[in-house]
Amino acid sequence: MTESNRIGIDIGGTHIRLGVVRNGQVVQRHQEPVGRHRHPSDIASRLQHISEELLNTDKPDHVGIGLPGIIDINAQRVLRSPHFPEWVDVPFGQILQEAFTCPMVIDNDANMALRGEATLGAAKDLNHAIMITLGTGIGGAIMLDRKIVHGNHGFAGEMGHMVIDRNGPKCACGSRGCWELYASAQAFQQPPHTVTDSKEWHQFGYHLGLGIASLANVLGITDVIVGGGLSNAWEKFEPSMKNAIPQFTYPETAAQIRVQRAYLKEDAALIGASL
Ligand SMILES: [Zn+2]
Repeated sequence: MTESNRIGIDIGGTHIRLGVVRNGQVVQRHQEPVGRHRHPSDIASRLQHISEELLNTDKPDHVGIGLPGIIDINAQRVLRSPHFPEWVDVPFGQILQEAFTCPMVIDNDANMALRGEATLGAAKDLNHAIMITLGTGIGGAIMLDRKIVHGNHGFAGEMGHMVIDRNGPKCACGSRGCWELYASAQAFQQPPHTVTDSKEWHQFGYHLGLGIASLANVLGITDVIVGGGLSNAWEKFEPSMKNAIPQFTYPETAAQIRVQRAYLKEDAALIGASL
């Protein structure tokens, strides 16, 4: 890689994170709350200002942005984003392009995270992988033959909304009993880092394993990378997750399933976006 000014941006529900990435390392970074000005053009001009500040008024050569939701990468449009409910079919790529003059790319944040892991992290030597990001919801990405699967209009990878109980509670997506209600922060009544009851973590791990088994059954992909903030509680849910997987797959499939933690941790999407 050359010494170019590559910026990776990870837009989350509460924070925007930017980094200058050189040789796969974040060499400069900035984080700030999303705040109240959430209009796409406000966000775009803020990103442009912060990028130039990070680069000491120099211009970026490439900007990549990951954000949650359904992103149509061909049309460069955000069709829907859980953290920005007012953004519906927004031409965010075009808005960003007016702020940044350099080449840029947008994609779903989990797809960006898997890009990062596939290039520099846990999926570097894998042909196929599933990425699961555990946070306020479940983000998902699928890599098949080294290519991220986007599906029609970017609909692929919304595995958090796989229904595991049709009589379950209502989900923000309009459906019921979605996987992320049982295996993300939404599984708990309180902030996850304050949950000490091992039974609750056991249930969490059980549901996580159940979903992973179903994904492996459908996709035939047995390497699973788990990232996102909640993956920091790995020790609390790993045993019950691994215990659940063989209960929901053929033994041959279960024997091949390998679940590992994201290597790039919280920077996976940011680094992936910069590539
Ligand atoms: Zn849902």
